Amino acid sequence: MTLLVAEDLHKAFGPTPALVGAGLSIGAGEIVAIMGPSGSGKSTLLHCLAGILRPDRGTVRYQDVDLGSLSDGKRSELRRTEFGFVFQFGQLVPELTCLENVALPLRLAGLKRRDAESRAVEGLARLEVADVAGKRPGETSGGQGQRVAVARALVTSPKVIFADEPTGALDSLNGERVMTLFLGAVRASGTAVVLVTHEPRVAAYADREVVVRDGRSREVERAG
Ligand code: ADP
Ligand code: ADP
Repeated sequence: MTLLVAEDLHKAFGPTPALVGAGLSIGAGEIVAIMGPSGSGKSTLLHCLAGILRPDRGTVRYQDVDLGSLSDGKRSELRRTEFGFVFQFGQLVPELTCLENVALPLRLAGLKRRDAESRAVEGLARLEVADVAGKRPGETSGGQGQRVAVARALVTSPKVIFADEPTGALDSLNGERVMTLFLGAVRASGTAVVLVTHEPRVAAYADREVVVRDGRSREVERAG
């Protein structure tokens, strides 16, 4: 089943064209890597797919709903309820403990503190960072922090997780560990992932690979 489809996306920032006819489709539970050189339009494509950026032209449909037809409020509600996000760094709230960070999306969804925190504990354990629950993000290692960020993205059971260079700030050993735990968790829950990366080793974890170059996208045929 196709979950998310983007067609003929165009986006410019002033005189700078970022996307000139890019597209991508992703099925339920599928993991798609977006590769390409720096400045090629990968993040812009991800932001359009996730309804964070409005394309100048082209459409993004999520489960047959045109994101462009939704009000800003409806679009942010969709992001909150259906999508999860993992960025390179800095997405955790520094004043909250790791446990509170993971519980936060559930608290915002209206869960009682006790229920939110017990699910957050499970989420931290699944990413093997239960031991940092009481620490603030600044007191954890980079790899632990990214595992907490992944736990937070997964805790609402989203249909799609958008990950922009989630291991970009980590050394390759820690990056690999985070990626293995991340993708193990999404495979178990059937969550689709749109994963921006420039590392072939990270892209190798995906089911499909799309390359963005000069604002255009193309599916990569894989051997085997
Ligand atoms: P990538 O993720 O592949 O590195 P981006 O999508 O971030 O590429 O950027 C594509 C192009 O659009 C680049 O030239 C970048 O500088 C430009 N760009 C992206 N976001 C903005 C923005 N908010 N304002 C101005 N230019 C931007
Ligand atoms: P990435 O490393 O994933 O390509 P960037 O560092 O390019 O991310 O972009 C981070 C944020 O800054 C994004 O929200 C992007 O839209 C914005 N951005 C990127 N390039 C520019 C630019 N030239 N001017 C202003 N904002 C930009």
